[in-house]
Amino acid sequence: MDKAGFSEQPQNLSGVFGEDIPVALRDTPDATRKLSLRTLILVIGGVGGFLLLALITGFFFYMTAPKTAIDPQSASTSTATTPDADTSNSVNPTVKPSDALLGHLKYPEAPESELMAISGGIKMRKAAAQRYQAMTQAARKEGVILVPISGFRSVKQQEQLFFAVGAQRNQTPSQRAALSAPPGHSEHHTGYAVDIGDGAVPATNLQSNFENTKAFNWLQANAARFGFEMSFPKDNSQGVSYEPWHWRFVGDRHSLELFYQARNLQPSSTSESTP
Ligand SMILES: [Zn+2]
Repeated sequence: MDKAGFSEQPQNLSGVFGEDIPVALRDTPDATRKLSLRTLILVIGGVGGFLLLALITGFFFYMTAPKTAIDPQSASTSTATTPDADTSNSVNPTVKPSDALLGHLKYPEAPESELMAISGGIKMRKAAAQRYQAMTQAARKEGVILVPISGFRSVKQQEQLFFAVGAQRNQTPSQRAALSAPPGHSEHHTGYAVDIGDGAVPATNLQSNFENTKAFNWLQANAARFGFEMSFPKDNSQGVSYEPWHWRFVGDRHSLELFYQARNLQPSSTSESTP
């Protein structure tokens, strides 16, 4: 190293310092110069390496950050406690993720004392039952026979309908959910929903071709007058398959709030804080 240093500039050094200057002294400035050059190279190399590492790390974070940032935001919609819940919730204002199961919303079971028979063992909540009977009579006057197939169903009954029938038909939960709501998530629990058939063509009961019957046409034209509406029309926002036979009562405050408030309410800090 020392020798290599000398061999590079022997003329200049000998010219400046002379031959009698000890090797150690002559060596010092060149060695420090060599050393500082090496240090500089090391520092540049080190800083360069560090910058490269930082660049790679930054790029890595840039690539991964958006994914991790979305998760807490979507999670905040279920809790609605974060200040930005409004903006994140506006992405999908129809269904609260916490309440939905395979596209079906959570519904409370109507108390037994609130129920009233509309036909045989089929029951509905009193207000809905009375309007349903009035609707049936009005239809009958026009030669249309509305037949109730199913009204109130308990969570236990829905459990049997969902799991036992699903297993019998070899359906996965998502396949089953396209046809039947999971227990705890059926509108039938509320006592406000009713499956209606046409007494003249029972073969269309619970079939999509019920839409071709006189009963369906009559319902389309008149059900709203009695406070009923179709829950799952074609291409409904819940993603539930088309059920022209399934109607729900939304003709009083309680039923309207039950079916509409949960999905239309924009959770904001003000509405959450009010008792
Ligand atoms: Zn139904």
